[in-house]
Amino acid sequence: MKVARYLGPGRLALEDAPVPEPGDGEVLVRVRACGVCGTDVKTYLRGHALIGPGAVLGHEVAGEVAVSRHPGFRVGDRVAVGPYAECGECDACRRGHPSLCARLHEAFAEPGGFAEYVRVPRRLADRVMHVLPPGLAYERAALVEPLACCVHGLRVAGVTASSRLLVIGDGPMGLLQAALARAWGATSVLLSGATPHRLAFARTVADVVVDATREDLAAAVAAWAPAGPDATLVSVASVASLADAIALSARGGVVNAFAGMPKGEHLPLDLRRVHYDEVRVAGSFGYGSDDFREAFDLLAADALPLDGFVTDRVALDDVEAALQRGAAHAGVKTVVVG
Ligand SMILES: [Zn+2]
Ligand SMILES: [Zn+2]
Repeated sequence: MKVARYLGPGRLALEDAPVPEPGDGEVLVRVRACGVCGTDVKTYLRGHALIGPGAVLGHEVAGEVAVSRHPGFRVGDRVAVGPYAECGECDACRRGHPSLCARLHEAFAEPGGFAEYVRVPRRLADRVMHVLPPGLAYERAALVEPLACCVHGLRVAGVTASSRLLVIGDGPMGLLQAALARAWGATSVLLSGATPHRLAFARTVADVVVDATREDLAAAVAAWAPAGPDATLVSVASVASLADAIALSARGGVVNAFAGMPKGEHLPLDLRRVHYDEVRVAGSFGYGSDDFREAFDLLAADALPLDGFVTDRVALDDVEAALQRGAAHAGVKTVVVG
């Protein structure tokens, strides 16, 4: 089968590789759609501490069951598959932190989504693989994984139906967070970004959209929610934006550092905001299988306004060009289709 193999920063090669053999309890999935994620782009550009040369990138997979040795799936089932799942037994899992599971990376969809087939280990098939309803297209189902990360992120930020949510960042994740908050019935969402075509999509999912290249975020927030946002998602890797978020938060609000920050970055923290104003600074990383299930259910029910979100569809042969376009913030969301 064909795979797009990552060979180190700036290098990707199309190679021929053996089709993985599913073992007992496992499933072989023919990849029909795999989203291009910011993590894939970052890894391609700069490398990644956890993803070394030789890996196959891509982890937002939807496809068709080609071989099933798992009782829950049959050949021909259309499925969404998560790239990892918690073990449910380790200390972190027992304490209710599945995304911090110590055994998270023991089992993964091999070799990765930028390939014609992936082998789905039993733990993933049990916990993070769901059969698509007839109306759910593969390219939409490839959004289950990023949406699951957003479900986790909004939960950590305590978003409820009465929230005023500030999202800083107009990348695919920030846009999904705004769409998700709307589906959850949040009172109001303000999204701030800097890329005109992404802000155009933002206007379809957020109540107020701020172009940070020409508008003052603090003034816009003050006009939108004088007491400040109850919840803030910082979905751009910018320490300055995290500082803004802490300054702008409502008293008692939660700021979630959703985007991964570059190594070595530090932030002077106004501790009066933390103590007297009870502003909580939190973070979230990845998803748990409950988040994955919720994201799947929302997409299966077509509960999110996502028309126009997937802007680019490319073949596996063109993954490298897609990663370069992602680095240039072209389009909104790119999906590799096969
Ligand atoms: Zn991703
Ligand atoms: Zn665990």
